[in-house]
Amino acid sequence: MRKLSYLFRKLKGNKVQCLTCSHFCVLEENQRGRCRVRVNKKGELYFLLYEKACSANIDPIEKKPFYHFLPQSFSFSFATVGCNFACLNCQNWEISQAPKEKDLKEEEIERIGFDLKVEEIVKKAKENGCQSISYTYTEPTIFLEYALDVMKLAKKEGLKNVWVSNGFMSPQTIDLISPYLDAINIDLKFFDDELYQKMAQGRLLPVLNSIKEFKKRKVWVELTTLIIPGINDQEEMIKKMAHFIKNEVGPETPWHLSAFCGAISWKMKDIPDTPRETVERLCQVAQKEGIFYVYAGNLFGSPFENTYCPRCKELVIKREGYFVERKDKEGRCPKCGFKLDLILS
Ligand code: SF4
Repeated sequence: MRKLSYLFRKLKGNKVQCLTCSHFCVLEENQRGRCRVRVNKKGELYFLLYEKACSANIDPIEKKPFYHFLPQSFSFSFATVGCNFACLNCQNWEISQAPKEKDLKEEEIERIGFDLKVEEIVKKAKENGCQSISYTYTEPTIFLEYALDVMKLAKKEGLKNVWVSNGFMSPQTIDLISPYLDAINIDLKFFDDELYQKMAQGRLLPVLNSIKEFKKRKVWVELTTLIIPGINDQEEMIKKMAHFIKNEVGPETPWHLSAFCGAISWKMKDIPDTPRETVERLCQVAQKEGIFYVYAGNLFGSPFENTYCPRCKELVIKREGYFVERKDKEGRCPKCGFKLDLILS
C-alpha cells in the first residue's frame, strides 16, 4: 500500500526532496529514489510498501546482534524489501537489493511480500512472549512510515523497539524515531569514506554522526563491523574505529566484529571467508585499545562470544551461538560486584 512519506519537501516544478536518509534524493515527477521504494507522484513523495512485509520472524535478540540489551529475550522481527545502500558484501541481498537487482517497476515492487498490518505485528509480538520488536533484515530507514507507526503502538503496549541499521538515516529521521527507540545496532562498516562509497554507495560521516546522536539521546547503542579479508581487516583501521568508539561514543559500547562469508554475499563470492584467527586477533586489538566489550560474530565456540567483567575479567555471560547462560547477579559481576553495562528491563 502507498503511504505519503513523512519526511520530504516540495521543490519548484513538482520536484520533491526526500528527507528520510542522508542521500536526500531530489526527484522529478514519477522518479524513484536510490532505495527504489519512494516515488514522486504529482509533487508528493510516496512510500510504496506500507504494511507489506517481506520477512517476519521471532528471533533471539542475540541474533540481531544485541548482547547487552534484554539478553535471552525474543524479538518480533520484520522488514520490507529495499535498501538505501548497495553493499557488495550484503548477506541479505535477495531482499535488500531486490528492487534494484531486477530493475523492478513500481507495481512489481508493491507486490513483493505479504500484508502485515501494524496492529498485527504488535499483537503477534505480545502473543509470542516477545519483549521487543526489531526493525531489521533490510534497512529500516527506508520503511520509516511503517516502522514508526509500529513503534508508536508497540510503546503504548509496553514493548521495546530496536533497530538494526546502517546508520545513514537523516537527522530528521533521528528526531522522529528517537522518542520511541530503545536500542540500535549500527553497522560501522569501514573507517574510510572512499570505501563507504565504493563498497556500499554510502558515506562515512553521516554514519558517525548518527552513532554519536543516538548515544547522546540515551538510546542503547551496539556496533557491528563485518571483517572482510583484504578490505577492512587491517589492525590500523580497527584501531581508528576503536579510537572513535572510545572517545566519542564510550568504551562501554558493545562492538561486534563479525566474520564474512563470501558464498552468501551479493557480489563478493570470490573473496575467501574471514579466518577465525583474524577476527580473534582484531578483537584483541580492539580490547587493547580500551573497548570493554568486544565480540566475535559468526564464530561459534570463540571465547569472544562471552561477556567478561571489565574490572576483574570474570566470565559473566557465557554464549555459544544463541545459547546464553547468565552468571551475573542482576547485572553485576558475580565475583567483584562491578555493575556491567546491561539493559535488563
Ligand atoms: S530514503 Fe534515502 S534513498 Fe530513498 S528516496 Fe529517500 S533519500 Fe533517497
